[in-house]
Formats: sequence, C-alpha cells, structure tokens
Amino acid sequence: MKATEPLQTIKPEVRNLHPYSLSPDRARIKLNQNENPWGTPPEVKQETLTRLVDRPWSRYPDFIPVQLHQKLAAFAGWTADGIIAGNGSNELIQAVLMVTLGPGKRLLISEPTFALYKQIGTVLGAGVLSQPLTPELTYDAGLLKKSLQDQRPEVVIICSPNNPTGCVIQHADLAELLELTPGLIVVDEAYFEFSGQTAAPLLERYPNLVVLRTFSKAMAMAGLRVGYLLASPELVREISKAVLPYNLNAISQTAAEVALEMYASSLKPLVEKIISERERVFSRLQGISGLLPVRSRANFMVVKSSVEPARVFKELLRRDILIRDVSRYPLLKDYFRLSIGTTAENDQLLNGLEEIFTGRNILENYEHHQKEA
Ligand SMILES: *Cc1c(COP(=O)(O)O)cnc(C)c1O
Repeated sequence: MKATEPLQTIKPEVRNLHPYSLSPDRARIKLNQNENPWGTPPEVKQETLTRLVDRPWSRYPDFIPVQLHQKLAAFAGWTADGIIAGNGSNELIQAVLMVTLGPGKRLLISEPTFALYKQIGTVLGAGVLSQPLTPELTYDAGLLKKSLQDQRPEVVIICSPNNPTGCVIQHADLAELLELTPGLIVVDEAYFEFSGQTAAPLLERYPNLVVLRTFSKAMAMAGLRVGYLLASPELVREISKAVLPYNLNAISQTAAEVALEMYASSLKPLVEKIISERERVFSRLQGISGLLPVRSRANFMVVKSSVEPARVFKELLRRDILIRDVSRYPLLKDYFRLSIGTTAENDQLLNGLEEIFTGRNILENYEHHQKEA
C-alpha cells in the first residue's frame, strides 16, 4: 500500500482545508495572540497553588464542576444549569457545532472572522455560508437579516467583538436576528470584557441564543485552557452530550474559580488599563502617515497599511516585536493586526512603526515623548 492511500478515506472537504496554524516566530514583545500582556496576577497564582496542594491529585475532578458553574453563574448573571465549562472555549465551539451541523446543514458567518468556525463546520460536512462585513469592517445587520430569511441556516456565529476587526453586533440588531431565525445564534464573546457589552441579558428572552466566553484573554489564563458557554438549560443538556467527561482538569478548574473570586480586585484594573492603552495606541497610529487604524472594542485592532503587511511584520520582527499578518483574510489584503500590550510594549511598537513609516529614529522620538510628558 502506498503511504498516501489511506488518505483516500479522509473526507474531500477536509483534505481541501488549509490547516489552522500560527507562524512559529518568537519575539520578546508578543502582540500576535491577543493575550493579557500583564500576565496572571501573582495573588491569583499563589491562591491557586495553595488550593492545589490541599487537593487529592489521584482523584478525578468533579464530573460536573458545580462550584465553578455557580461562580460563573454569579459572574455572568445567568443560571448555573445553563452553563458548560470547557477546555478552552474552542472546545465548546466544537461541541455546539457537533450537535447541530452535518451534511445538508448550514452555518452562516460574516468574514473576516475567527478561522475556526469555518474549519469545524467544514470538517463536520456542513455547508458554510459566508457573507462579508461592510467596507468599514462592521457587521452588516441588513445583510445578516436577509441571509437568515433567504438561506435559513441552522446556526449563525457572530463574534462580538469580532476577531480580527474588533467590531461588535448592536444589541437591537442581535435581538431582531434572534426573532427572525428558528436556528441557533452563537455569540462568541471571547473579548467582551474589553467592550463593555454582552449578549447575556438576552438569554432570558431568547432560547435560541448561545453565548461563548473564555479565560484566555481578559482573565489572563490562556495557558490553562478554560472557556464557558451560556444557554438555556434545555440546550445545555443537549450540547453537553458532545463534551468529553472530565474535559476540564482540576488545576484549570481551581485557577478559574480563583480568577472569578479575584476578578474585581486583580483583573478588572488590568482590563481597564488595556482599554485606555487601546485608545492611546489608536490615536498615536492615526498620527502616522501611511497607517489607518480601525476602531476596535477589543484588546487588539487591525491597521490598514500603505506598506505591504508582510514587510511590516518582518520589520517589526527585526525589532523583536511580533504582530499578526492578517492580509490573507477576506477584505484585509492591506491590513495587519496588533494586540494591545503593556504601556512599555506599546511604546516600542509605536516607535518601531514610526521608524518604518516616517524614517524617524527611536532617540528623536523618545526625546519628543519626554518633552510632551
Ligand atoms: C482567543 C479566542 C477564543 C478563545 O479560545 P480558547 O479556546 O478559550 O482559548 C475564542 N474565540 C475567539 C474569536 C478568539 O479570538
């Protein structure tokens, strides 16, 4: 048998997919994955470790992490039996799509958006309907309504704030969409803490709404893989059938509980700092000729660039700064994405971009900065 022969058993739609991947480059200033740049607060780490020492590691974690669900319920303002905690929210995106999609079923997304939705939908053999964001890179609510009525997809995913563009879906539009479709609307709120906006209050009214969130961004725990899903208890019972038992390990479960308990004192101030840095970076970028930043409600933004994004990427990498080249995404041929870092990291990024786009050097820039301060 030839080595490639077993590949005939792989579904053709899977073989045609580009794998979801990330450039393996490393840099001291890492602004390519929208992580919390301040790191996990030491008091959160310490309290987690203290609790873990007292816990029997030889025992399975809880079948249903009841304590975590209760804390999530209080945090999200929703009922504990309408929650699933997952090994990252990616696991829960997969679970929702596994119980809803297959051959003959359809998923609707607005692109550019998070690449995983299309990938999982395709692997499951479903049709993936894609419509573009507006030229301003915002949600096209009119077009979404029309697509819902004309195409009747089983599932719609709306990423809000959207990765990579940072736009949000308006509350009134979302409510209208929920009225219009008998299918599910999944709102991926991976970045909601930075937006001051959530669809969670609509859960009470709309049993076809599913909200997904994560501990990987604002909660500063990407390495521990925790996410959660909010939906009606009836839907949660069905979606849970596609989640493996003990999906959430005891270490991550404990850390998530501690992060929720300490959110107001330890994490929220970091979120606020990131939001104010986002606004500062935005206005500084507006002052660099050749760059056009796009307003964002998340902890990242896309920037339109007169220099080829791949070249900006390389130039910044030479300066030990890693961003994301998103020029292969639909509508984003001339764009790169940057995550908001610490104040010092953002200054270095801005200096680097000023060098690349205006030829000014760092020292001159630094003196200029000192004068202003
Ligand atoms: C980062 C991100 C997530 C988080 O995934 P995890 O599996 O929880 O780390 C989910 N959705 C989007 C759109 C993201 O950008």
